[in-house]
Amino acid sequence: MSIPLADSPIESITFRNQHFYLKRDDLLHPSFAGNKARKLYYLLDNEFEGVNRLIAYGSPQANSLYSLSAAAQLKGWKFDFYVDHIAQTVIDNPQGNYRGALENGANVIAVSDLLNDRDMKTYIEQDILPKYSDALFVPEGGRFELAALGVEMLADEIMAWANEVGIDNLEVALPSGTGTTALFMQRRFLQKTNLENNSNFKVLTCACVGGDEYLKKQFFELSPDEAFHPTILKSDRKYHFGKLYDEFYSLWQELKQETEIEFELLYDPLGWKTLLDYKVQTMIENNQNQAPILYIHQGGLLGNETMLPRYERKLRLKA
Ligand SMILES: *Cc1c(COP(=O)(O)O)cnc(C)c1O
Repeated sequence: MSIPLADSPIESITFRNQHFYLKRDDLLHPSFAGNKARKLYYLLDNEFEGVNRLIAYGSPQANSLYSLSAAAQLKGWKFDFYVDHIAQTVIDNPQGNYRGALENGANVIAVSDLLNDRDMKTYIEQDILPKYSDALFVPEGGRFELAALGVEMLADEIMAWANEVGIDNLEVALPSGTGTTALFMQRRFLQKTNLENNSNFKVLTCACVGGDEYLKKQFFELSPDEAFHPTILKSDRKYHFGKLYDEFYSLWQELKQETEIEFELLYDPLGWKTLLDYKVQTMIENNQNQAPILYIHQGGLLGNETMLPRYERKLRLKA
């Protein structure tokens, strides 16, 4: 099987009179793009003998649902995705990641009545997995060591590019959910640069889910060694994941107008906001000596199909 992941392009963009490099991981592959594709790369790269079915769980609008369905399709596997509950409006009018996953043949299975106070992972381990001898079970968020394989390829692509264009001091920015992508990338940068040269690649991220403390905890679960932990950029206020904020929508629109690139609406607004604040801060403190910044576009655009109508409705109600 051919592996549908190639070097994604790196572009130069200007936003609010500042220069950024942009890694277009959203363009990795038509149906398998962004950081979920990187984290699931090990599925494509390995033969799983006797496996015919992929089993996972999460939210019916998750970016991971769609990417998992694409991976299962590329492998020729059945795909069962367990969710707590699917709203009737979503069933009646499938949109975004849910629609895309159904088109890829996913079975999205709602089991809130069967959980009996167990969490989803326990339920699947106790009631579902024993039924299938041909199933591969993927934990939520891809938060485990196998996911490092594709993220390390992404880090290597960035280091090879930087080497080519003569950059040896780079800040790489990306917003975090579980922090898996950011941490595996920072770890790879440190391991490779220590071995090969004295360049410096620093990962900057922000906590989109659960706040800085939650993200720090995730980092420790992935790596007890704090040297591998990315730098968390602070935001001046707390935002709740999945909630709508007018300033997020206007920043997203401004990015779209000025760069002609569509970003994602759940993670990217906070990613850009904290990065722009950081840039202003470093300009004040250290005007002469600023490292170039590369922002990673981590895909997830199918989710905008559900986020945009929510924003438009909110703005209509306000008008
Ligand atoms: C899943 C996702 C993230 C968060 O990735 P983590 O590895 O969980 O930190 C960020 N951006 C987009 C677009 C995503 O789909």
